[in-house]
Amino acid sequence: MRIATVVGTRPQLIKLAALQPSLRRRHEEVFVDTGQHWDDALAGAFFAELGLPQPDHSLGIGGGSGVEQIGRMLLALEPLLAAARADAVLVVGDTNSTLAGALAGAKLGIPVAHVEAGLRSFDRTMPEEVNRVVADHLSRWLFAPTPTAVADLRAEGITEGVHLVGDLMQDLVARIVPEVREPEAGVPDRRHSGTYLFATIHRAENRTPEAVRAWLALLGDVARPERPVILALHPGTRAVLDGLGAPIPRNVEVIDPLGYRSSIAAQLHAGAVLTDSGGVQREAAWLHVPCLVLRGTTEWVESVADSGGRSVVIGLDSHAAWESLARLAPLGDVDAAVNRARTVAVRPVGAGERISAALAGVAPEVGV
Ligand code: UDP
Repeated sequence: MRIATVVGTRPQLIKLAALQPSLRRRHEEVFVDTGQHWDDALAGAFFAELGLPQPDHSLGIGGGSGVEQIGRMLLALEPLLAAARADAVLVVGDTNSTLAGALAGAKLGIPVAHVEAGLRSFDRTMPEEVNRVVADHLSRWLFAPTPTAVADLRAEGITEGVHLVGDLMQDLVARIVPEVREPEAGVPDRRHSGTYLFATIHRAENRTPEAVRAWLALLGDVARPERPVILALHPGTRAVLDGLGAPIPRNVEVIDPLGYRSSIAAQLHAGAVLTDSGGVQREAAWLHVPCLVLRGTTEWVESVADSGGRSVVIGLDSHAAWESLARLAPLGDVDAAVNRARTVAVRPVGAGERISAALAGVAPEVGV
């Protein structure tokens, strides 16, 4: 098949890197980068690091409001997809690029494939929730990463075209772990295992002034001179922080976003991870790192349920953060991180191959 992949953000480039080798073995790809993330730290650097080829089409559509972005993407995608003679449009995740790709494909009568279908927070105030609900209802192939995602699709009446394929990001982490067992392989400032906490924050819900003040206070509460918080900050969150002029608490070190390997290394060697990221919370779980999810809810139910209590959803509650860290990653205990970094093994699931095979019509629908 000739498949137009439409991506545009950091996590989508990472997932495409996991999918592309098997996709290109079976299919012809027309690679479209919307440019939703355009700066080097969030997009450009990932091409080289992950070995992604140059896109066939770079739309350069970043900035502006979400609605404006989607509108501009639709205008650019219509002639492009029509001319590409694609048999399918493949979209990933839950961003504006996902929604625009799915909508453009559906309106042009090109079947849509959605990778990471079925995830739900049941909170329609989240821009991501709107994007994924619409993409799912327009899709011919729905590649669900978890049984909960399959069940949530069924609850919305979607049972056809659903494939339970596992998680592309797990395959990539499985590949990278052996390369980052030594902290020297990418941990910022080559810190030793267990001597820092690693944090990322980027969701819209955590960019309001109240939320920013709450997570700054939380990070300040858990940071110690002997175990600082390293906060790899998304440029969007940094702009909000700078606009507020809120002071950074002591022992919280704000750094630029990391490359992919460094992000995996920083998680693997951390005492614990604090994050509102969907990807980072799953990676921390696969790496067996204690993880505090800085949201009130998660779409990754299995990731929390299967963590043996190591992952906890705490919102922005400082007290819960304290309590969880005292239990899961006590100050001074670096052995847990040292041992984990030496021994943890992540099992590959072959999600990319399952997706590519299903698109070729050679895989049965599974798990439905
Ligand atoms: N990530 C990265 N550098 C960072 C922070 C995160 O490479 O400084 C990676 C992380 O390891 C994961 C992905 O980005 O693979 C998650 O993307 P993000 O948090 O932007 O989005 P989400 O997963 O919440 O959709």
